[in-house]
Order: sequence, then C-alpha cells, then structure tokens
Amino acid sequence: MRVAVVGAGIVGMTSALHIMEQCSSAHGQLELTVMSEKFCPENTSYGAGGLWKPPSQEHMSDAELKRLQGSFDFLTSVLRTSYAHEAGIFLQPGYIVHMDPVPDPAWKDIVVGFRHLTPWELTNLFPGYKQGWFYTCFICQPRDFLPWAKKRLTRRGVNFVQRRVDSLEELAPHYDVVVNCSGVGATELASDAAVSASRGQVMRVKAPWLRYFVETDGKHPIIDGIPYMYPNLHNVVIGGIKQTGNFRKTNDPRDTEAIWKGILALNSQMKDAEVVEEWTGFRPMRDGGIRLERETLAGTSTSTGRPLEVVHNYGHGENGVTWSHGCAKEVAEIVKTIMAERCLKSRL
Ligand SMILES: Cc1cc2nc3c(=O)[nH]c(=O)nc-3n(C[C@H](O)[C@H](O)[C@H](O)COP(=O)(O)OP(=O)(O)OC[C@H]3O[C@@H](n4cnc5c(N)ncnc54)[C@H](O)[C@@H]3O)c2cc1C
Repeated sequence: MRVAVVGAGIVGMTSALHIMEQCSSAHGQLELTVMSEKFCPENTSYGAGGLWKPPSQEHMSDAELKRLQGSFDFLTSVLRTSYAHEAGIFLQPGYIVHMDPVPDPAWKDIVVGFRHLTPWELTNLFPGYKQGWFYTCFICQPRDFLPWAKKRLTRRGVNFVQRRVDSLEELAPHYDVVVNCSGVGATELASDAAVSASRGQVMRVKAPWLRYFVETDGKHPIIDGIPYMYPNLHNVVIGGIKQTGNFRKTNDPRDTEAIWKGILALNSQMKDAEVVEEWTGFRPMRDGGIRLERETLAGTSTSTGRPLEVVHNYGHGENGVTWSHGCAKEVAEIVKTIMAERCLKSRL
C-alpha cells in the first residue's frame, strides 16, 4: 500500500516514524513517502522549545489522556536507547508557577513526581506568584529530533519529496492513503476555517547553569508577559510571546525587549546569558482542538479504483511536540486498519 505523509514538522515526522514501526510488517507491503513544501529548519517545529507540556486543564477526555500517555510512554522508551541524545530527548525537572491558583491538571499522574511548591519555595524562588507545581517531564528538541527522524526513516526506505500539495485530491492517482500533517497549511489543504496562526518569538541563550525549566502563567504586577525558560542540550530557550493576528515573520525588537524584561524580572541571574539566536514561528491553532480522524474522500479514485483515504492530523496549537507521539501512534493504528480492510477486500 502506498502512503503519503504531507508535512515534515514534528507531527508529520512522528506520524511517519510510527507508521513505519507499526505498519511495515502488517498486511502486505508498505511504501511510505513524506512530502512537504518546507523541511526543518524552515518549519514551525524547528524553533519550538520542545517541552512536554499539555494545556493546564483540570478536565480532559479519556482519548486526550490516552494520547498524552502514549507520548510520554514513547519518550520514556527512547531514554533507554543509544540514540536518545542524538534524537534530542531527555528528562527535565522544572516549575510551573501561577499568579492565580488553578486546579491540578488532568495529566498530573502522567508526569513524574508532580507536587505543589511549598510556601518557602514560592516566597524565595518565585516572589509574587500564588501557586506552583514541580515535576519532571521530557524535552524533545525538534531541531535534533527532526534530522534524526529523517535519517532513520531514510535508512528504512522512506522517500522524501520537497513539493507543495495544492489539493489532497491530486494525490489520489499515486497513493492509497494520505496523512495530512500540514499544520497551519491545513487552512487551505483541508479548507478548514477553524485553523489559525499564533505568532511566537523566542531567543536561545548560553546559560549552562540553568538546569530546570520554568513556565509562568497569569499577569504578574512587575513581571511583563508570561516568561518561560526551557533548557535544551546546547542552550536555553527563553520566550513568552503569543500573538494572534500578527503575521510578521521576522523578529520584532519590541518583542525581544519584552522577553528580556520578563526573564530578568523572573531570574536576574540570566543577565549574564549570551544571546545566540532569535527566532519567530507560527503555532497551528485550531478552534475545537486537534483534528485527528479518517476521511474517505468521495469523488476520488486511486489506482485500484477505490476512493482516497485521508487521515487528518493537524491543529496541535502551542503543544505540538507534546501531543505528537501519542497522535502519531493513533494515526498508525488507523493506517493499519485501512491496510487490513484493503487486504481483506483484495482476498474476496
Ligand atoms: C515559539 C514557539 C515555541 C513552542 N514551544 C513548544 C514547546 O516547548 N512544546 C510543545 O509541545 N510545543 C511547542 N510549540 C508548538 C509546536 O511548535 C507546534 O505545535 C508544532 O511545531 C506543530 O507541528 P506541525 O508539524 O503541525 O507544524 P509545522 O512544523 O509547521 O509543519 C507543517 C509542515 O507542513 C508543510 N505543509 C503545509 N502545507 C503544505 C502543503 N500544502 N503542501 C506541502 N507541505 C505543506 C509545511 O511546509 C511544514 O513542513 C511552540 C511553538 C512556537 C511558535
């Protein structure tokens, strides 16, 4: 069966990896192609900080928690491999602090050692913040993970094609299944008006002394914005810019200043950090959340005379790295089901 993954960000590449792992020995031969208009370093995923951090919601559906657990379990399994470092995957403890107390998140039992900060920790480490959580989770650095995944997939015979896809229908003569991981591009490719872009700007700084992550939430009386710091293997990602309706692709000096002011107010030690990079990218937001579902494209015909099967996997918003592996596992299960159906029909 011929399968195409459209999009080579974290969502497309994890989908390709999990399809290869879960489907290559199932129900006949699998030919897998990843096609994308842009590859790393030119997509959103490349610049993301890579922290495993779902939305801080008290309630989540069982399906959402299953996806998050799937992601966490996959990353845990990589820890024991010889390629964890090359793939940019490591365990990372850190803090999330809130201006206003919020209920515990639905995923608190998925991360390791979730606990509340003590009054001493709040007063001495994060003055002004009313509540905080400490736990250990993962960082999966896309700028290491994506090249590693491409190398691994290439070794397993996956084709990579750089091209823009103007419509899913145009792929019908060449593929049986298309996995749509086009991120913000789904606005056009899936004609999905619920998808929008949220602008982010981050800096990468040399601060080897910082070995914990910090994320803040809520408006602080002195600290500007919602600063965050995520250590990576080579540097520390600092940020806090989230803008809707701003499509500026270049770094904005006003945002640079806002990030610095916020970070220095949060942690004055960072004044000695050397800036090595600034980057701007767009988060693929979607009203209603991630779209992960199968669609049989009526009116199309593949080379076997059957309609094209599409598996949509887009709209991961500000947490795409976090969701990606769990969603990819689910995508691979759907592809496996389609393969089994095709195999059964061709035997009848
Ligand atoms: C500043 C910033 C920091 C972030 N930090 C984190 C973090 O710490 N943790 C976390 O979990 N998430 C984080 N995110 C969110 C995360 O980056 C995104 O959710 C994730 O990258 C989305 O991945 P994607 O593969 O869907 O999109 P992308 O990386 O944008 O990939 C989409 C791909 O589809 C291709 N494409 C689109 N349309 C077409 C078409 N018509 N034809 C062919 N190819 C097409 C594009 O070329 C691109 O390669 C951050 C985002 C930003 C902006």
